[in-house]
Amino acid sequence: MTPVGDDDHPTVSPFTAGLRCACPRCGKGRLFKGYLTVADRCGVCGLELARHDSGDGPAVFLIFILGFLVVPVALVVSLNVEWPLWLHGFIWGAVILGLALGMLRPAKAYVVALQYRHRRSELEDGGP
Ligand SMILES: [Zn+2]
Repeated sequence: MTPVGDDDHPTVSPFTAGLRCACPRCGKGRLFKGYLTVADRCGVCGLELARHDSGDGPAVFLIFILGFLVVPVALVVSLNVEWPLWLHGFIWGAVILGLALGMLRPAKAYVVALQYRHRRSELEDGGP
């Protein structure tokens, strides 16, 4: 059963919370206190955010997603242009690094929001 929101905290889409890097309960508070460090508590609704641990999930998702998207593009470009090998390494390395750094925060926020949505009672009531 998918939990639903209440009067104080209407349901926030995990996708929206992930894109905004916002608290998964209220959708307004900041999720991170650093680049990837989850804040101890939401500044708006008081949800204890430190209990959410996404582990390596977001990084693994990005490895597969970026590999699926960037490798075919790199292959097509390498077949159609005469760049030296070092230039391919530099450009595709920079593209992958930039996309990974840009997408890691929203991916982690999305995984935390999914955890909150599906393990809400466990995380709010003290858990195991
Ligand atoms: Zn909140």
